[in-house]
Amino acid sequence: MTATLLQGGPVAEAILAETAARVAGLKTRGIEPALALVRVGEDPASIVYVRKKREACAAAGIRSIDLEFPADIGRGRLLETIYRLNADQAVHGILVQFPLPKDLDQDEVVNTISPAKDVDGFHPLNAGRLALGLPGFVPCTPLGVVLLLRHAGVNLDGKFVVVIGRSNIVGRPLANLLSLKRLGLNATVLLAHASTVDLPRFTREADVVIAAVGRPRTVTGEMLKPGAVVIDVGINRIDDPTRKSGSRLVGDVDFDSASKVAGMITPVPGGVGPLTVACLCRNAAAAAAGEWSRLS
Ligand code: NAD
Repeated sequence: MTATLLQGGPVAEAILAETAARVAGLKTRGIEPALALVRVGEDPASIVYVRKKREACAAAGIRSIDLEFPADIGRGRLLETIYRLNADQAVHGILVQFPLPKDLDQDEVVNTISPAKDVDGFHPLNAGRLALGLPGFVPCTPLGVVLLLRHAGVNLDGKFVVVIGRSNIVGRPLANLLSLKRLGLNATVLLAHASTVDLPRFTREADVVIAAVGRPRTVTGEMLKPGAVVIDVGINRIDDPTRKSGSRLVGDVDFDSASKVAGMITPVPGGVGPLTVACLCRNAAAAAAGEWSRLS
């Protein structure tokens, strides 16, 4: 391996420490930041994610309010809960853990959350504000990627970035964020997706390649320009008979080949993963301060 490893853990800790200081300041002004964590059903991954979010809140001094409902809660009761949280002045942020059970409409739920408490940054108003370059809540994983790059001293100004994957939670907001006319961003961004023809043609020219696909080995070393910065957002569980559990986590990037060509690369796990939760706390503290999340 020749690439420098971009570890997310230390950056996440720095974000949490900064957030904790901000939260302590808010408390001296009589504001106790509080984040509602809403979980519906017993999806095992969701249980783990909500637990991690609760722990991160505790580390930052944010009060988390756990609301756990059975899978058959029904549309009306869930929306009523969100209306109640929207109206509660002691609650500053609302997070509804996805995926929801199939009979519930995730878009409707997102649309119901007050944009001022939408710390996930998924509400159309926040997505629109980001697309327009206006202040708003920035989705946590894209925000984490930008803060990781910043921490590593990567200046994106004028750089060619290929973002692979156009989901509304990672790829698209990331492309919007990186192309903003803002110090340290200001990149030329290509948003690639499943219908992109000849992906390697673009990635081989890229200064930065960001993969958010959900498919192992989407990016290999031969698709990269030497010295490129590679950010792997993907989390995929694959079979591995050598492990006691029988499986292991890999990203979307073939780490072995890519790390021989890249200048910097994130590992999976331990790269982007820890940043998402840290940025959620960062957004929650901003919400409590009555501000949108900001990059600077
Ligand atoms: P998604 O399924 O919503 O979107 C995947 C995108 O990849 C789509 O836009 C699709 O067009 C594109 N795609 C699929 N096959 C492709 C191909 N062969 N070439 C190019 N593009 C292709 O996924 P998502 O929610 O954005 O998540 C992507 C990955 O990131 C998943 O592995 C997910 O687990 C992971 N993720 C990680 C974090 C984190 O905190 N690290 C957060 C969110 C998502």
